[in-house]
Parts: sequence; C-alpha cells; structure tokens
Amino acid sequence: MFDCVLPTRTARTGSALTWEGRINLRNARFARDPRPLDEGCECPACTTFTRAYIRHLVNQQEILGLRLLSLHNLRFLLDLVAAARLAIAHGAFESWRADALARLPGSGAENP
Ligand SMILES: [Zn+2]
Repeated sequence: MFDCVLPTRTARTGSALTWEGRINLRNARFARDPRPLDEGCECPACTTFTRAYIRHLVNQQEILGLRLLSLHNLRFLLDLVAAARLAIAHGAFESWRADALARLPGSGAENP
C-alpha cells in the first residue's frame, strides 16, 4: 500500500483513495456529484473542485485531472500515516487500526 507509485498510479486510472474506499471518477455516477473527492480532506483538489469537475477533466484527458487526483491520493496516504503515528505515540494503535479498517470498504474488517 505504501509503494511510492501507488498514489500516482491510482490517479492515472482516474481513481481516488478515500474513506469510502477507492472511487473511480470515470464512473457516470460522479457526473453531477458536487462533493469533494473525500469529505474532510484539506488537499487543494478537495477544497477547490467537485467530483463532477474532476471527472470531466479526467474524461477529457486534461492532465490537470490526473494531477489533482495525485495530489489528493498523496495527501490521503500522508494523513493516514500521520494518524497511525499519532495513535502509536498515544499507545492506542490497536483501537485506531480497528476503527480505520472498519471505515475502509474492502478492508475485510467492515463487519468484524
Ligand atoms: Zn483531497
């Protein structure tokens, strides 16, 4: 998961890493979605653009779409690791891990 190319490789497929799981912006269900890529994310892509607009950029092969997805994916992973580090520092990693895995669809821990 922390392979150095993961955030940009994922972006090149038109996908974003989110707390809803991996979402593919090429999917038509995002055509009119006014939400940011990931609620609560403070990256430039999420604080400035909607899913619908980024989807438009990706589908029109505008490089800005892939750059925004890369910025977001990098921020998501950095925030994830920062939260894990904080939990470790507070001796609460196991409960943080369980909560994080329960939030991430496809982790296999949604219904422990
Ligand atoms: Zn973001």
